[in-house]
Amino acid sequence: MSEVWVLGDGQLGGMLKDAGRRLGIPVRVVDPADIEAGERLAHADPLCITAEREHWPDTQCTRALLAHPRWRNAPAFAALADRQSQKALFDQLGLPTAPWCPVSADADVESLREALGGEFLLKQRRGGYDGRGQWRSQLAREATLPLWQTEAIAERCIDFTTEVSLVGARNRAGDRVFYTLTENFHAGGILQISVMQPGRFAAWQAEAERCHARLMSHLNYEGVLAIEFFVTPEGLLINEVAPRVHNSGHWTQAGASISQFELHLRALTGMPLVTPLQPGCSVMVNLIGRDADRAALALAGTQRHWYGKQPRPGRKLGHLNFFHPQASEAARWLQALPLSPDFQASRAAALRSLAQWDNG
Ligand code: ATP
Ligand code: MG
Repeated sequence: MSEVWVLGDGQLGGMLKDAGRRLGIPVRVVDPADIEAGERLAHADPLCITAEREHWPDTQCTRALLAHPRWRNAPAFAALADRQSQKALFDQLGLPTAPWCPVSADADVESLREALGGEFLLKQRRGGYDGRGQWRSQLAREATLPLWQTEAIAERCIDFTTEVSLVGARNRAGDRVFYTLTENFHAGGILQISVMQPGRFAAWQAEAERCHARLMSHLNYEGVLAIEFFVTPEGLLINEVAPRVHNSGHWTQAGASISQFELHLRALTGMPLVTPLQPGCSVMVNLIGRDADRAALALAGTQRHWYGKQPRPGRKLGHLNFFHPQASEAARWLQALPLSPDFQASRAAALRSLAQWDNG
């Protein structure tokens, strides 16, 4: 059977490969530096070519993948890989987003504060992740912007209630399915914990799906796409969009009948696209810079995913999933999990959310 090729051989590619194995769809992950893979493509006939990331180096291999007629979602990558064109697209489509502006060479802290009506962040247009490539005006000791100001956009600092994300998929026929909104808890710009509780954000689900559907239709998108939102008293604001499977959707491996990885492959290959069953509460905890303790694995219900990467401080090395029909049991697990002190605030916030919503 013909293969699905994935540009990128990180953990997302690895998990797409696992999902393909179960579905019976062979998935080949491709390192952008692999010259041989680029050459082999000239004689191969993949089912389709997708990507696990939106930034890649310009290599012989990536040029071959992008030039292939089976490369999917070219318009989405063109529009979304750069924060400036991404934000411009939200404005063009009338989608709510944090106020922003481009940054010229003569802009300074005061002029940007004035333009955006308060404190702001600079975000590098390309390549930032896990909060890297960001600069916050209220933390700045000097009035000067960083040297990379012209490669950034400026964005109003949002005083949000919480952060949620919507993972959904669309196929070529235009069918769409969505997961339930997931609540995300970050520290220092890096996602630590995601929690999905049915009904918790029911009031926002329709609006989030409307934004998601609008984007996917406009881009003629195929596969899984994720939108991160800020929840504010005035409504949802889009933070950013990822044209791929997403860290905040990892809970679906344990808590949904179809994981986001399987959903992506289904959508791309024309297999039936149905709304996954999501019958209870899910918690996902990222393993950042270190593995889980033995005590975490000794808790009943802990599902460990390990990416096999070289440990480094601040690096996402794996994640833990937990699923239970009851929020109180999800809270009990999260409470019992041995975590490093830098998870203290996000765990406390996640537990508050679980306690607040648990009505059973
Ligand atoms: P990732 O790719 O890991 O999701 P990133 O580095 O691309 O992250 P963002 O998602 O834009 O960056 O920002 C990371 C986090 O920083 C957000 O989840 C949020 O907690 C905070 N943040 C980003 N933009 C704003 C903003 N305008 N106001 C307040 N906080 C923000
Ligand atoms: Mg983000």
